[in-house]
Amino acid sequence: MSRIGFSRRAFLRRTALAALGLLAPALRAAAEAGVCVYADGALAQYGFAADHPFGTDRQAAFLARAATEALVPPTRGSRVARRAELLHFHTAPYVDRVAGAEGAGLTALDGGDTPVVPGLYAHAATVAGTALAGLEAILAGACTRTFQPIGGLHHAGRDHAAGFCVFNDPGIVIEALRKVHGIERIAYVDIDAHHGDGVFYAFEEDPQIVIADVHQDHRTLFPGTGRAEETGLGAARGTKLNVELPPWSGDAAFFAAWPRVLAHVERFEPEFVLLQAGADGLKGDPIAQLDYTPAVHARVARDLSALADRHAHGRLMAFGGGGYDRDNLARAWCAVVRALRG
Ligand SMILES: [Zn+2]
Repeated sequence: MSRIGFSRRAFLRRTALAALGLLAPALRAAAEAGVCVYADGALAQYGFAADHPFGTDRQAAFLARAATEALVPPTRGSRVARRAELLHFHTAPYVDRVAGAEGAGLTALDGGDTPVVPGLYAHAATVAGTALAGLEAILAGACTRTFQPIGGLHHAGRDHAAGFCVFNDPGIVIEALRKVHGIERIAYVDIDAHHGDGVFYAFEEDPQIVIADVHQDHRTLFPGTGRAEETGLGAARGTKLNVELPPWSGDAAFFAAWPRVLAHVERFEPEFVLLQAGADGLKGDPIAQLDYTPAVHARVARDLSALADRHAHGRLMAFGGGGYDRDNLARAWCAVVRALRG
């Protein structure tokens, strides 16, 4: 029996318990389960050459600082997503293209931002599979919240790679929640400096997926999308929120916008919360131009944890996303883990 099958049974059992008004003890147990951090050698391998901003040393930078702060409990290991799991979100021709990229001699999956490196398919499938492992651990009650530093690859579209992102792990989790676990009302919050276009446009017409994305002004940064006027299409109009901040905005500008972001998500009373906690909004990032401090990450993780407690049985998955200054990402992600622990 697959782990997904097990989790689905667990979820159905919990749903039945809720209907009987017997859920409180189960929820208490989940709350006591705490934060699970997913990090191991296989996950660390997702990345590119030493001269690429997304190197393979990012996880180690986080873990080193977390150790000095005595923050990380024993970490949980990765697993590789099966092809069928990637197909929850991605198209079959795209998954096949990634699988065959090395053999075909491709040098990059896109215009050059996302190079083909040895083992790329396995590394990317590891990021996605680990996100699904985290989801299953939450639904099984083994963790209340998760943090996966090497994850949150929000630029990958259903049929293409972009911006260092091969498989879109948040998108895969969202689809797995709906298709496998029957959880429909999902919030995705993205504070990476870049717009999370791969998630946004995949669900632009979906009224069940509430999205709030705070990013640097689209006219000044890749991928050039995420205008404030984009609020969702058709029946989904009003379910998406893009907040654009001018270059060099700091904590004051972020915190001025944050109550509106939180209210937007709160209004939909999501059953499950995802956070892409990109660290490239911190002052000094080599490829983005914002001036946050880790206080932004701490506040966001704390407020979303409280929101998840109110509406989603505490269930929240956080991902590291971008962040290319190693000291910055370590400080921001440690702030996230500390806030998730409460
Ligand atoms: Zn980014």
